[in-house]
Amino acid sequence: MTITVQRQDKTSQETLAELKQENGTKPEHTWTIEDSEELYQVQGWGEPYFSINAAGHVTVSPKGDRGGSLDLFELVGALKKRNLGLPLLIRFSDILADRLERLNACFAKAIARYKYPNTYQGVFPIKCNQHRQLVEDLVQFGQPFQFGLEAGSKPELMIALATLNTPNSLLICNGYKDREYIETALLATRIGHKPIIVLEQLEEVLLVIEAARKLGIKPVLGVRAKLSTKGTGRWGESTGDRAKFGMTIPQILSCINQLREVQMLESLQLLHFHIGSQISAISVIKDAIREASKIYVELKVLGANMQYLDVGGGLGIDYDGSKTNFHASKNYNMQNYANDIVAEVKDACEARQLPAPVLISESGRAIASHQSVLIFDVLSTSDVISETPVRQEQEHLIIRNFWDTYNTIKIENYQEAYHDAIQLNEEAKSLFNLGYLSITQRARAEQLYWACCQKILEITRTQDYVPDDLEDLEKIMASIYYVNFSVFQSVPDSWAINHLFPIMPIHRLDKQPTRRGILADLTCDSDGKINQFIDLRDVKSVLELHPLREVGGHEDGEMGRWGDGEMGRWGDTPDTPNNSQTTNNKQQTTNNKEPYYLGLFLAGAYQEIMGNLHNLFGDTNAVHIRLTPRGYEIEQVVKGDTVTEVLSYVQYDAEDLVESIRRRTEQALQENHITIEESQLLLQNYERSLSSYTYLA
Ligand SMILES: *Cc1c(COP(=O)(O)O)cnc(C)c1O
Repeated sequence: MTITVQRQDKTSQETLAELKQENGTKPEHTWTIEDSEELYQVQGWGEPYFSINAAGHVTVSPKGDRGGSLDLFELVGALKKRNLGLPLLIRFSDILADRLERLNACFAKAIARYKYPNTYQGVFPIKCNQHRQLVEDLVQFGQPFQFGLEAGSKPELMIALATLNTPNSLLICNGYKDREYIETALLATRIGHKPIIVLEQLEEVLLVIEAARKLGIKPVLGVRAKLSTKGTGRWGESTGDRAKFGMTIPQILSCINQLREVQMLESLQLLHFHIGSQISAISVIKDAIREASKIYVELKVLGANMQYLDVGGGLGIDYDGSKTNFHASKNYNMQNYANDIVAEVKDACEARQLPAPVLISESGRAIASHQSVLIFDVLSTSDVISETPVRQEQEHLIIRNFWDTYNTIKIENYQEAYHDAIQLNEEAKSLFNLGYLSITQRARAEQLYWACCQKILEITRTQDYVPDDLEDLEKIMASIYYVNFSVFQSVPDSWAINHLFPIMPIHRLDKQPTRRGILADLTCDSDGKINQFIDLRDVKSVLELHPLREVGGHEDGEMGRWGDGEMGRWGDTPDTPNNSQTTNNKQQTTNNKEPYYLGLFLAGAYQEIMGNLHNLFGDTNAVHIRLTPRGYEIEQVVKGDTVTEVLSYVQYDAEDLVESIRRRTEQALQENHITIEESQLLLQNYERSLSSYTYLA
């Protein structure tokens, strides 16, 4: 963190005004969409698919640079009119196609550049997103590149066998295998597939030999190597001697001997490795490729009929747009990735004068992340503080002291003032406990405490360096935005492994977001929140957001409480907080508010299938959108789970439930505890709830 010396040569008022200009807390009218682009790092993570238009809405260009864009806010409006409520997952098939084409183009370019004497033939790892439409789309979009599929389990193999229909594309069979898996994979050759069975464990070698003999089918086999190259970050443990998957070098040699003994060494044609997902450092990728290339040529020298080198997944996504080796980012692009693989393998093969292999990658995250956007709405907000009490005659001493502290907070003393405020607040609590302060007085003391914190916070925001003891102030003072979705269902990695995803409003981006908040989801779980957000330098503990707006356009705070919104305060003389209301802990609800939509981006890989039914919030609504010359078409609508559906997952039968409620209302009627109208209303509501969406309407 850089420390800049504060300027002391101006009055605090002047300095503050200037600092505010420099630090982005500009008066609202000068805020532009460029400011929003910078604030939310849209270019960094969103290029070329996402940007902001003049109306201040997020736009989507599903074909990247090749033209055609949609206003995301308007699209959500149009989908809502079709009775597709929020939260809503929007998939853009064109983005999927574009990602796939990009990956292939990068390898094609690298192959041309290094005059690589063989080809690239990628596969999509199904585990990344198994949804039918997506896998079918991928197979179709991949046809020009003979793109194939990778299965990591028996169910995924079932998908691949039935879906893959591209002649000469590869079907990579990974994961733990039993006899049935292996037989099925072998028989797939008879219906035109090119399955490659990748041996992950020594035990599988015998199974394969037996099955191949029994069926009389010559298999194409691969081995998965445990590289000694250490991955980094979250999945760094996927490699190394203790990794869960793959064979060590001695095991690979033993495998070769076993195959040689039964005259099947010719079947061994592929070397595979996977060093983990979201590799953020190119150096790690280079090391892995170097090691794998060496193993590859050695296997060839040992007599295996090597044809393919499969570099697995790991190609990363720049979630925070920082282009660094931070875990939410990566310090290389797709072209660098392809270049390094192609160049390394070529060198290794040339050095031993061996033919170069067909290159395979199993990039999942890099292909599937961008294509979906989750849209959800804000239900209400809650702030720690909003109003400061009005000064009164004859205040208790402790409150007078609070006023003195409040009125003298400035750049020169804000840290000291913070400690004073904390101490006064503690004192007020003790005085209350001892009976010297009434509950009204304690309330005033608390309000003044928060008012001090707010004022101090605004000074810290103008500073490049914030003292350690004040670092948490932003977090403590953050508003809570209650949002209509479940973290556990829609972004499980955010909860499970603190994964960062870009989140931002999809409209009002021509206006300054004057609030800072965290997101709290619908579940009754205190972990159901998002309080870490992407940042260029580190991770932000709060997200800049707009206040909810009254229908008709008034932002909260525009009504004169703080003068003109939050920014007006500094325009007033600091001695007179200008407000008339004294309610603390202000709560805003959307009853009379305009909808406020947030988008969560880059979550198209892994999140959907790992999402769970915590609190019985089910699958969200999902739509597939495709660009057409005249706009877009809705290719497919997948309605989210109804209450009946999620209840059936836990073995409740809707009819039984209704019947049980009906019986109870009958009994209550007999006993005169309920009127007939009430009983009907209860039953109606109960039945309607069963058939409705699990989220709030
Ligand atoms: C998960 C997995 C992948 C996909 O990795 P990404 O980092 O998403 O590209 C590829 N290969 C194997 C063997 C995997 O387990």
